[in-house]
Amino acid sequence: AWAGVPAAPADPIVGLNQTFADDPSTTKVLLGVGAYRDDAGKPYVLPSIREAESRVVNGNPNHEYAAITGDAEFVKLSLEFAYGPDSAPLQEGRVAAAQVLSGTGGLRVCAQLIERLPRLTGSSQKPVCYMPEPTWGNHAKVFQDAGVEVRRYRYLDSNTKTTLDYEGMKEDLLGAEAGSTILLHACAHNPTGVDPSPDQWRDLSAALKKTDLQLFFDCAYQGFASGDAEADAVALRSFVEDGHQILLCQSYAKNFGLYGERVGALSAVCSSTEEKAALESQLKAIIRPMYSSPPIHGARIVKEVLGDATLRAQWTGECKEMANRIQEMRSLLREGLAEAGSTKDWSHITDQIGMFAYTGLSKEQVQKMRDESAVYCTLDGRISVAGLNRDNVAYVAAAIHAVSK
Ligand code: PMP
Repeated sequence: AWAGVPAAPADPIVGLNQTFADDPSTTKVLLGVGAYRDDAGKPYVLPSIREAESRVVNGNPNHEYAAITGDAEFVKLSLEFAYGPDSAPLQEGRVAAAQVLSGTGGLRVCAQLIERLPRLTGSSQKPVCYMPEPTWGNHAKVFQDAGVEVRRYRYLDSNTKTTLDYEGMKEDLLGAEAGSTILLHACAHNPTGVDPSPDQWRDLSAALKKTDLQLFFDCAYQGFASGDAEADAVALRSFVEDGHQILLCQSYAKNFGLYGERVGALSAVCSSTEEKAALESQLKAIIRPMYSSPPIHGARIVKEVLGDATLRAQWTGECKEMANRIQEMRSLLREGLAEAGSTKDWSHITDQIGMFAYTGLSKEQVQKMRDESAVYCTLDGRISVAGLNRDNVAYVAAAIHAVSK
């Protein structure tokens, strides 16, 4: 039955794991997928998350289905985490929301909502979403699979390739087709680690108020970017304060280290409680035939952490430690490059934030680094800084220098 089916291309990020596993090198280093590693290069479970999980298990919970939109208490705590408990739309009960399958699942459901919106509202407009160039490799595929046309807006400076082209970005967004959706990274832009400054965000928010574009924040690194979950939410909160009725996807993969548990939330700020009820009913209509209801275990863990002041404070400290270790690795990598003899300007490595550094290495240089040193990163030159540690950072610095001198 499947005789004529050709092989599909491997995912450029996840596919790297296999290529790496197949490499016989004893000094090989994997800087591909964005998953935190401790200083011994091992996956890390935060002690606060372990504690929350044991509380969940000791509570002998049942395994009944969650509601289509998931655990209501989890959703409430997630919204407060992102928007801040004092947020006006939250207090006024006009934020439609659902628990979803981590960031990707939320993006997919939102993309489907965007695709359906013209039909639901009797408009003849084509669903279009603008995303930054570059963006996380899966973004375009998620939207295209949902039937949304993907267009790009400028993001990185075409000269430096490692800093923001703010004017270009703003010009493209203001020129976007009316009624379209604009995807924004809430913090720690992936893959570049380059974010607009607080002033630039404010300027953008004011400028976009004059348009009828639907703003959509993808928030996959709250707490992980700066080590402060409040600071990392500043951009999206300022847009909400300015009256933008944003869409938001939250992921607990990185900040809580719950990658495989698939915990996330999506939300949409509405103008009234009636609008919120209608939108939630549409979200249910999308989710029910897609996967019926979300998994419950990870949401229970997050609920335990966010709902307990002591555990939450512990998590805050531990999340900050992860962010600090990454920051330290950025510094060591930059120093290592200088020590290896590089005279290039690598300041972007320490200026960029979040899990990734966008090195500026070309596809050819990345390939050469794989072949010569068995250091693996994605072809766009993005390295997962979390994959660096005290033992391998000098080796990686030398490998980068060898292909970039
Ligand atoms: N959005 C962005 C910007 C990301 O970097 C990621 C993770 N790489 C995701 C969404 C989705 O992650 P997950 O589905 O694991 O939550």
